[in-house]
Amino acid sequence: MSDQTTLRVDVIATTRFSAPADVPWSTDADGGQALAEFAGRACYRSWDKPKAATATNAGYLRHVIEVGHLSVLEHAQVTLYIRGVSRSVTHELIRHRHLSYSQLSQRHVIDDPAFVVPQPVNGDDELGGLFERAAATARAAYDELIEGIGQRLAGSEGATRSKRARQAAQALLPAARATEIVVTGNLRAWRQLIATHGSDHADDELRELAVACLQRLREVEPNAFADFLLTDLPDGRRIASSALVTEG
Ligand SMILES: Cc1cc2nc3c(=O)[nH]c(=O)nc-3n(C[C@H](O)[C@H](O)[C@H](O)COP(=O)(O)OP(=O)(O)OC[C@H]3O[C@@H](n4cnc5c(N)ncnc54)[C@H](O)[C@@H]3O)c2cc1C
Repeated sequence: MSDQTTLRVDVIATTRFSAPADVPWSTDADGGQALAEFAGRACYRSWDKPKAATATNAGYLRHVIEVGHLSVLEHAQVTLYIRGVSRSVTHELIRHRHLSYSQLSQRHVIDDPAFVVPQPVNGDDELGGLFERAAATARAAYDELIEGIGQRLAGSEGATRSKRARQAAQALLPAARATEIVVTGNLRAWRQLIATHGSDHADDELRELAVACLQRLREVEPNAFADFLLTDLPDGRRIASSALVTEG
């Protein structure tokens, strides 16, 4: 198991594509990006690749993104398992309505709450100390509340008592509490998330998550994300941006 508060993003599922045998076409990619090309070419029956600039999968998808024919990217999906993020960040993440989510339950899973220290605080002795003391106070009150609720509900069945105690006491935990979430999305929805939250205007932790997602997505579907540039700002923050993005 990885540290609960260290960001980790793993690809756990991708699209498998097999072209129909009777279609006179092949491409130099596979998986979701081949499927996106197939879907685009199916619109025009352009199996013979009439234009040199779009004869490769990379060239084809670049063109699709340039002209905004983005629905073809919706056929392919990637699922990421994201760990070591705060509930504050997942609260923002789940605002993206075209992605699908399954998040760790605070009511059912009994664990030792850990907290993701926010960027400007992390590494600063004074602010880090303040954060730690506040988190420890919240944690102590959380434990006390669980104990107290457990006593009040002494007559009820053990598992129910424990679940009800945790669901009430969690109200006291900071939004920095570490969590885990499985996120599935089509390539267009992932691109929209990165375009929106990869910028320097985004929340620091969410921007870091968007950049990490981009890096993982590029490993499996490079041509669908090739236009995004990663830039290191003078203050050390890394942002993702694309000159081609037509939405987000
Ligand atoms: C810098 C920044 C600051 C923010 N501050 C706040 C804040 O203070 N308060 C707050 O509540 N939120 C805030 N947000 C969240 C923001 O308002 C969006 O909820 C979030 O970024 C998801 O974006 P979206 O709705 O475009 O995305 P998605 O839900 O992923 O939708 C993708 C796209 O689909 C289309 N779409 C989806 N649903 C509809 C619909 N119902 N009607 C029409 N088109 C639709 C739109 O084109 C949309 O851009 C902030 C976001 C950023 C990046």
